[in-house]
Parts: sequence; C-alpha cells; structure tokens
Amino acid sequence: MKPISILGSTGSIGTQTLDIVAQYPEKFRVVGLTAHSNINLLAAQIGQFEPEIVAIATEEKLPALRSRIAHIPNPPILLAGTKGVKEVARYGDSQTVVTGIVGCAGLLPTIAAIKAGKDIALANKETLIAGAPVVLPLVKQHKVRLLPADSEHSAIFQCLQGVPEGGLRRILLTASGGAFRDWPADKLSYVTVEDALKHPNWAMGKKITIDSATLMNKGLEVIEAHFLFGLDYDSIDIVIHPQSIIHSLIELQDTSMLAQLGWADMRLPLLYALSYPERIHTNWQQLDLVKMGSLTFSEPDDKKYPCMELAYGAGRAGGLMPAVLNAANEQAVALFLEGKIGFLDIPRFIEKVMERYITHNNDNPSLEDIIAADQWARQAIKQLPVSQ
Ligand code: MG
Repeated sequence: MKPISILGSTGSIGTQTLDIVAQYPEKFRVVGLTAHSNINLLAAQIGQFEPEIVAIATEEKLPALRSRIAHIPNPPILLAGTKGVKEVARYGDSQTVVTGIVGCAGLLPTIAAIKAGKDIALANKETLIAGAPVVLPLVKQHKVRLLPADSEHSAIFQCLQGVPEGGLRRILLTASGGAFRDWPADKLSYVTVEDALKHPNWAMGKKITIDSATLMNKGLEVIEAHFLFGLDYDSIDIVIHPQSIIHSLIELQDTSMLAQLGWADMRLPLLYALSYPERIHTNWQQLDLVKMGSLTFSEPDDKKYPCMELAYGAGRAGGLMPAVLNAANEQAVALFLEGKIGFLDIPRFIEKVMERYITHNNDNPSLEDIIAADQWARQAIKQLPVSQ
C-alpha cells in the first residue's frame, strides 16, 4: 500500500483522489489531509479514510471540526492554519503528496513536502509557474519527483517513459479550444459571462473554464511544460484538438511522434501520478476509437487567443514574469466574472500589468520575491481603470 497525503482534500482534485483511494483501498493509504474551510466534508473524509493527521487552513474552524469528529474512535492529530498545513505536508511516511491547493497558498506546503523527501503529485499550478526558480533546485537537491496530475503534462510524462535523455525534440500540447472555438474573432467583444462558462468537453470550475476560453490555461501549461520537461519555448507548440481524446504528444529527435489517448477524465492522470511507475487495472470505461470516429486538429488563431502570446512572452522573460502573468490573469478573470470588464479586457489588463513589471523583473528571485510579485500583480490589476 502506498502511503499518500492530500493537500486540498475537499476540492476537485482532492475529492477525485479520494475516489481513487476508495476504489483501490488495497493500493493506497491516506496519511494526512488538509482542507481550506469545508469542515463537513473534511469530517466525513476523516471518518471514511482514517488519516493520522489533519489540518484545517482556516484556524477559526478548528473547534467546530474538533466537535464534528468527537465521536470517532481513533481521531487524527488535528492542526490548523498555514503551519498546520505545512506540518501535514511533511508528516509521517507518506511517499507522495497530492497538491490540490489553489493559488500561491500551495507553495509553502509543497516546499515543506519536497524538503521532507516526498514525491509531489502536482496539481497546484503556482508550484512551477510562480515557484519554479525556488522549487526546481529543491526538487533536485532532495531527489524527489514531480509527477504531473494535469492531463496534458501527464500525457507527455507517460509518452516520455522509455525515451532516453536528449531524445525529446518537441512537445505538442493539445487544447480543446474552449467555449469560443467556433466563434469568429470579431464576435468576441460581445461575449457574456454565461457564454464563456460553456465548456465543450470538461466540467470544471468557473476560473479554469474561462482560462480555457481565453486559452490562458494552455499558455500556463506551456510554461509548466517548459519547467517540467526542460525544452525551450520554441520547442513547445499548441494544437487545437476539439475532441480532447489525445491529451498531448511528443516528437522525438527522429521525427517519430507519441501520443497518449483516453476519455476526458481527470482520474486517469491522477491515478498515474499516484501509482507511478505501476499501472493499475481499472474497470473504467475503455476508449473506443471506432465510436470516436475521427480526431481533428487545427492551428490556434493568435488573434482570437492573445493570452497565448502573453504566456509565451512571460515564459521567455522568465524570472518573476510568469508569477505576474498568473496572478494578473486570476484577478482579470475575477473582474470579468463579476461583470466589471469585458472578455477582451482580460488579455489587455494582463498585458498592461506585465508591461509595468518589466523593469522590476528579477532573474534569481527568492520565495519572498515570488509571493510579493504575485501580490503586486493582483493589486496592479485592481488599480487599472475599468472603462476603456
Ligand atoms: Mg490541463
């Protein structure tokens, strides 16, 4: 049984990970859980999975959580706050820590887990996009693995098994194209929040559904792919693949290409991140190519998806610019969802904030610099005039 801990156990990644544990109780054992604030669900998870240690990030909720689990025969150690979450990350004999925490809040506990020698099932975007300058040297130093839980990076990681060092030539990330895949670029100024929330293939949270519509999601994945697999930005491309069956591809030095296919189901990449290098037999629905019929591909339109170029630009600038891009995007998307700015203002706002930051960029940032840049970008977006 592989011992694992889950940070963010009540979120989408956390609950899907626990679904897998519930399905394969002979394969995985839960050592620790952390949650932001949902004590009802967390209490139920404690009862079902009997972890050794649990932390609730929102400290005020600790007494309520304590009384909620008072009847449990073998209660876990209960902790609270950022310190508590960090302690769960590094605690005990867990081999892999699933990082399902959203935002820069995920950085500190991820670093704590790495320093404790644990492999990371990577589901927190900021770990690499913002944190790479600090996180990657630690990964090397502590000889741990970053096991991608995102479908695209998992696909690349799966394809790379058995490829010798230096064999990889190019990465091709597939994108569904999001809600506006079939809309002409000149119609995009009129889109509503409702239009943007209709994702064709994946049922996801609001923020990531908007990121799929702008293709920022893919841009951020390009930056993560750069850090995970070590290719430069000229060797990482995006292709629109509306069926979301091929989750990404790699091209090798001899022009051979490898792809990973599967239904659009997050559990598959999650399972592989947990079971790696083992392959676990599942009773999940098998992919039926004949039923699928055809798989199609097209080039993403720069004009329609300006966020893509912003992400490549931030990645190439390096240093703190990816952190600024990511934080600015989160704030811009929040403003759009609140109805305060238009859809096309999202890239405009991000670009303005990035332009302001250029002269402050720093090639060798500390963790404090990263968190400061993230906070700066969030404030900078809020200060831009909204009617333009
Ligand atoms: Mg993805």
